Amino acid sequence: MQSIDQFNFSGKKAFVRVDFNVPVDENFAITDDTRIRAAMPTLKKILADGGSLILASHMGRPKKNPDPKYSLRVIVDHVSKLLGVPVQFAPDCMGDATAAMAAALKPGEALLLENLRFYAEEEGKPRGEFATEEEKAAAKKVVKESQKEFTAKLAAYADCYVNDAFGTAHRAHASTALIAKHFDAENKMFGYLMEKEVLAVEKIMTDTARPFTAIMGGSKVSSKIEIIENLLTKVDNLIIAGGMTYTFTKALGGEVGNSICETDKLDLALELLEKGKKNGVNIVLAVDAKIADAFSNDANTKFVKVGSIPEGWEGLDIGPETEKNFAEVIKNSKTILWNGPTGVFEFDNFTSGSRAVGNAIVEATKNGAFSLVGGGDSVACVNKFGIADQVSYVSTGGGALLEAIEGRVLPGIEAIRGY
Ligand code: AMP
Repeated sequence: MQSIDQFNFSGKKAFVRVDFNVPVDENFAITDDTRIRAAMPTLKKILADGGSLILASHMGRPKKNPDPKYSLRVIVDHVSKLLGVPVQFAPDCMGDATAAMAAALKPGEALLLENLRFYAEEEGKPRGEFATEEEKAAAKKVVKESQKEFTAKLAAYADCYVNDAFGTAHRAHASTALIAKHFDAENKMFGYLMEKEVLAVEKIMTDTARPFTAIMGGSKVSSKIEIIENLLTKVDNLIIAGGMTYTFTKALGGEVGNSICETDKLDLALELLEKGKKNGVNIVLAVDAKIADAFSNDANTKFVKVGSIPEGWEGLDIGPETEKNFAEVIKNSKTILWNGPTGVFEFDNFTSGSRAVGNAIVEATKNGAFSLVGGGDSVACVNKFGIADQVSYVSTGGGALLEAIEGRVLPGIEAIRGY
């Protein structure tokens, strides 16, 4: 497989799929430029080699073409500033004018294409309402057909293809996967960001140092079933935390009061516990909880055994004994995956459990463990606690990371690797 570090971009035009889907406020000012900054090492390497950049991204979920609310024009100045060269803007990602702009690019120059998703062909999904499933299927066939031409036109702008958008690696879209077919193996590669994400996931899922501990938190077990099932074939220890604690507690006959609990998932919780036992996985459940008499930071609180939560009270975080148990397991691990907080960490009075987990991960990492934090709220946690730089890797790809942990092959990775 081609590596970006080994590739010399001198005199080459690179089509780089980036994730510039940044949040903007009502005046279209960027409120968080993390994703743009994350792509800079790749983009700067290409320019420094003497290559030119054709930057392509989506933004939001436009429903028509053009959809000014989702124009990438608003980020051009900021990208230029970070890149240190003026970035040209193509107000349409298709068309002869854009093809001419791409053709005229000189070494060291950069061109940003307008939002790829202005075209339904990017996602390959038909737009609008359909009266019947047949009509929808027919429309989908039409888009899938025109997607081929759309993809070929994007590919024709460049000599090589770089995918640095891990956040969309789980989508088989024109610019994230299909386009790769238009380039030989030696002319397509991951960007630095994507490479780091892929390596981190592989270290967790295939090249695993043991013991391997996963901490699954968050609100509901129903949204994490596939991940838990796959992890039960991989991990030595599975720590269950967050709101899903109470579904397991209730399934085991405990009283959970008003805690968040999916009563239709009690059998599933028991099945998961059974599967863990069969696979020799040590499933670690909470033994105590910090409960509150309202879903509020200012509620009255107390600590109780996890299966003895009175009516009118709800568990909003784990208790001190559970913190100790979790920390013990984490500190003895060599590979750690953390997805989801142990409680309602958005309320300052219910951050203690998540903080204890974060600190234990930091300690294990110092002692040589590989730790990956990813998938939504646990990333917010490590940022809130100021420990993001003390774990091995914080993933930028929410949905993509979760699908990788579910054991799925991501189309964006497959397209480059060719397996
Ligand atoms: P998820 O998106 O599934 O990872 O869930 C994250 C959310 O779960 C966060 O907003 C937390 O506030 C919430 N959460 C964690 N523990 C609890 C709990 N015990 N009760 C209610 N919500 C919780």
